[in-house]
Amino acid sequence: MPFTLPELPYAYDALEPHIDARTMEIHHGKHHKTYVDNLNAALEKHPDFNAGDDIEALMRRFDEVPEAIKTAVRNNGGGHANHSLFWQVMGPGGGGAPTGVIADEINSTFGGWDALKQKLVDTGKGRFGSGWSWLVDEGGKLVVTDSPNQDSPLMNGQTPLLGIDVWEHAYYLNYQNRRPDYLEAWFNTVNWDFVNKRLEQARGHS
Ligand code: MN
Repeated sequence: MPFTLPELPYAYDALEPHIDARTMEIHHGKHHKTYVDNLNAALEKHPDFNAGDDIEALMRRFDEVPEAIKTAVRNNGGGHANHSLFWQVMGPGGGGAPTGVIADEINSTFGGWDALKQKLVDTGKGRFGSGWSWLVDEGGKLVVTDSPNQDSPLMNGQTPLLGIDVWEHAYYLNYQNRRPDYLEAWFNTVNWDFVNKRLEQARGHS
């Protein structure tokens, strides 16, 4: 079954002024859609490989993907998985300090939200070119990491809990070359209820 573009769980302008409507429209409707289309096109070339219909499960077993379509699945399957998560990590009326179980873990692991936020910003600023800054669960522990291009932490056995897209397509219309300003503004969109749900799911897996 081919993969499909998930609907955005809110309106294009719901994250303004932090993320503008036009950026959201192009990012979701063009960039994400292209990853989905290219992923399906690659999988069609290899009908004997059963990719299933769960993009996260597919990226977790990336090692099993046939050599001929590995790069396409890495870039486009990764792009589909990363963006499907990204839309949910953000939400209208988000941001502020974390709540729930994740707040306690952030305090015990990083010494507080300010310290973690700084680490995520530094990681995002430090990622040369295109990629992602991540908070992941790794075997029951919170870890900050980054990835180039559309590489997914799922490929390394990690479960992404929160991801920040630092590709220019995520911010260029509004922030141009000012990635640090985008990063600061981005934190006003975090949906902590969703991040807590992800943590619960991740711990169910480990
Ligand atoms: Mn993107």
